[in-house]
Amino acid sequence: MRRLDKALLSGFLLLSSALSSVAQEPQALPAADERYKVDILLVVAHPDDEGAATPYLARTLDEHRRVAVVFGTRGSSGANEAGAEQAAALGAVREVEARNALTTLGINNVWFLEGRDTASQNVLLSLANWDHGESLEQLVRLVRLTRPEVILTFLPGTFIGEDHGDHQASGVLATEAFDLAGDPAAFPEQVAAPMKRLEPYLENLRPWQPKKIYYFPDADREDIFRGKGPEYSVKEISKSSKLPYWRMAFDSFRSHQTQAKSFLDKLAQMDEAQIEKMATSDSFWTEALHFVLGKSLVGGSLTGDVFEGITPGAIPFARPEVSPEPARPELSVDLAGPYSFYAEFRRAHGLTNLPHPEPPEIALQGHTTLVIPLWVRNRTAKTQAISLAASLPAGWTLQSGTGKFTVAAKQVAATRIEVLLPAVPENETKKPEPREVTVRADSNGQSIGEIKLRVELRKRALPQ
Ligand SMILES: [Zn+2]
Repeated sequence: MRRLDKALLSGFLLLSSALSSVAQEPQALPAADERYKVDILLVVAHPDDEGAATPYLARTLDEHRRVAVVFGTRGSSGANEAGAEQAAALGAVREVEARNALTTLGINNVWFLEGRDTASQNVLLSLANWDHGESLEQLVRLVRLTRPEVILTFLPGTFIGEDHGDHQASGVLATEAFDLAGDPAAFPEQVAAPMKRLEPYLENLRPWQPKKIYYFPDADREDIFRGKGPEYSVKEISKSSKLPYWRMAFDSFRSHQTQAKSFLDKLAQMDEAQIEKMATSDSFWTEALHFVLGKSLVGGSLTGDVFEGITPGAIPFARPEVSPEPARPELSVDLAGPYSFYAEFRRAHGLTNLPHPEPPEIALQGHTTLVIPLWVRNRTAKTQAISLAASLPAGWTLQSGTGKFTVAAKQVAATRIEVLLPAVPENETKKPEPREVTVRADSNGQSIGEIKLRVELRKRALPQ
């Protein structure tokens, strides 16, 4: 039998090679998998963050557009309203909740980066805790796999608002991936084809340049974002579900039991009219969605539809236009930390028109420490003496960081001023007003810089 098998096999091989040499039909080379091509890639930080866009996603799905979602983390640092599970176990539960929420809308292509949920307002802390490089590599891979026309994500910036560092980090990574995924020199192992059969290292993806990136802000203020992008009502009725878009978003949200069980239990007791009354009296559910256009490589107007100017097919890779470094005097002081990072980030990614508060702002919990991070730049050829002073609102206490210092020649030194903030009484009912802090830097009796920061005190806020 064995010999017969062999004879049959060699006969078959001879026949098939003879046939292929005379074949007329060209063989199709493998193409990218169409099942993963999307129109919109949503990039957010935590399970339930998709809620910032779900009414719009429901609308765009009605228009037969394809959507995929990337979460930066599994949201494992939160509290659990639905069970005892905590930390990584909670993250495993939340991954399923997020998938279920999106399945409700008809979105099945959902991925999670390996970022760790980091409770602070400092984007740099989040990026560090997310293994910035690895997360970016994975996100670039997913952009090349899904080939989005548009990326939609949190606005990278610091504001008075929820201002979660992880939200900002998702916007930073999405912007970086927008600028890198089309570059064949970035993560080239992803775009190389294997040269041997079953070579399990090279990925055979192609570079992909998304056409537009839109942001949604995490800020309380709206003034600086007005007119910077399109606005979408969430009250229109969906053609597919015959429900208003806010209502579809609401139904999708019902999956997030670990984050909102008490609210969802109340909801389960309500009839349709009561749900409508509750949602329309709380503008959180029914206010229009505002996006901010980050950049478009295909034209279109600032406030026009997200898909204005977009036509099918790939566009060439567009290296971002880097703005020149600002001119600085030989001796200067700047706000450092996330503030200087964002100034550099906007410059590096061609986002110099991206709205940002001026002066910079932050909301902090009362009776915590405000840290003002500073860079002192000395481009001169000798050590320089400087002095730092701060003007504070009444009741705010300077803890450290002012006085006289020296900075060595040709050095950029980091320092910080720390201020103890007064407590906010639990029974405080007045709406908090931001207060201004001013830092002045002098050298040899001459001013070398003045920095302002608006700080709002709250009963609760994420750590700085
Ligand atoms: Zn979040």
